[in-house]
Amino acid sequence: MIINISEILSTAKKSETYSVPIQLDAFTMNGDRYPMVSRESVTLTITNIGNREVSIQGHIDVVLNIPCDRCLEDVPTRLSMDVDKAIDLKKTDEERINDLDETCYIDHSSLDVDRLVSNEILIHFPMKTLCREDCKGICFKCGQNLNLGECGCDRESLDPRMSAIRDIFSNFKEV
Ligand SMILES: [Zn+2]
Ligand SMILES: [Zn+2]
Repeated sequence: MIINISEILSTAKKSETYSVPIQLDAFTMNGDRYPMVSRESVTLTITNIGNREVSIQGHIDVVLNIPCDRCLEDVPTRLSMDVDKAIDLKKTDEERINDLDETCYIDHSSLDVDRLVSNEILIHFPMKTLCREDCKGICFKCGQNLNLGECGCDRESLDPRMSAIRDIFSNFKEV
């Protein structure tokens, strides 16, 4: 959704609060798509702070399905993000992108809320996602999710790279 900010920009000290729906149905990063399973409205207060600068304050709450790092099952992950920014519209888009984390979600006339939301998710995206602390992951032989039970594969025999290292060690011992 686009918020028209031209009136705020042309009126000294004007401040408006918006509650707007998120229209994105997924967040995409490096070609991976993370569906949004819950997206509460975004609340944003946009204020003309003078000198062609605006502040954006508010809160964004979304739940994304992010695959577990070990077993790849989707983990509904809540991202609760406070927004507090001051944006200098005297600068060109290029200058602002170089300066900050910003993609161009704002210009002299409009604020693109979905782009802002994407930008915030990118900043707050978790480094690590586990479905549970002791997730057992998947069997590297058959791909079974080991949280759901044993598959019966012999995982003691290591993969070829590891057995090469083991051979080096056993040769070493023989010398
Ligand atoms: Zn897992
Ligand atoms: Zn297996």
